[in-house]
Amino acid sequence: MRLGELPTSNRVEDRRGLPGGPAGIGIGTVVVLTLIGWAFGVDPRLLIGGAEQFSGGSQTQQQQGPIGTPSDETGRFVSAVLGSTEEVWTDVFAHAGKTYKPPTLIMFSGATQSGCGFAQAAMGPFYCPIDQKVYLDTSFFRDLEQRFGACDVGSKTCQFSQAYVIAHEIGHHVQNVLGLLPQVQQAQRAMAQAESNSLQVRVELQADCLAGVWANRAQAKWQFIEPGDVESALQTASAIGDDRLQRKAQGYVVPDSFTHGSSAQRTQWFTTGLKSGEVASCDTFGTQ
Ligand SMILES: [Zn+2]
Repeated sequence: MRLGELPTSNRVEDRRGLPGGPAGIGIGTVVVLTLIGWAFGVDPRLLIGGAEQFSGGSQTQQQQGPIGTPSDETGRFVSAVLGSTEEVWTDVFAHAGKTYKPPTLIMFSGATQSGCGFAQAAMGPFYCPIDQKVYLDTSFFRDLEQRFGACDVGSKTCQFSQAYVIAHEIGHHVQNVLGLLPQVQQAQRAMAQAESNSLQVRVELQADCLAGVWANRAQAKWQFIEPGDVESALQTASAIGDDRLQRKAQGYVVPDSFTHGSSAQRTQWFTTGLKSGEVASCDTFGTQ
């Protein structure tokens, strides 16, 4: 992909290099509470919020990083992708008579605090609906290249795969501000786990489709996609799924991805959004 024309965002908070140790509650607590939440159909966020109160909140204050446009190569890349999502979704919302409030994206290294609890690199990138921020440890990008083999190391097509990952998380923000995430969470409270998981798959596939909508509209505006890019992103979608399943088997829990759907489903929905460029095509809830 070509970065050249993409607008930059000044909504990147750079926490790389800042200490981000566990505060009031650690990831272990979050994981346990999340599992309890799923088992009993309670929104895990409520439990996590309760635990934070119980443990007196954060004991170590998370240092805030500078907010703006980072000047290093990775930071500029992230800022350009984020900037393109801001313009695309501002347009889409405006056409629907709505106002898009873009999220802040937090770049961190190793570990940091999020509104949804302690975040660490092993979790992969995620969106926290409570503080409405995207969390990205950029070592995940290196993983994409080196460990997942999702694209050729250092290649331009690899960049598009990384952009797709950011666009997927922004897709969750869009779902959140449109009220879909809260609705799903409410519905899940009354569901058995299998049913709840199947609903979660539809949330994830819709975020893939919304990433496709972004790619379509960003391409129309800036012609930034190059040959091989889309194939690379599709490969990434399935590679991430596989790897995340592996991580689960190894005992890591990835809050963003209790389940993401099959590779074929992910490919199908990203392609649907990419071809149509329309949010209406992303009705992952109305199909089997
Ligand atoms: Zn997701």
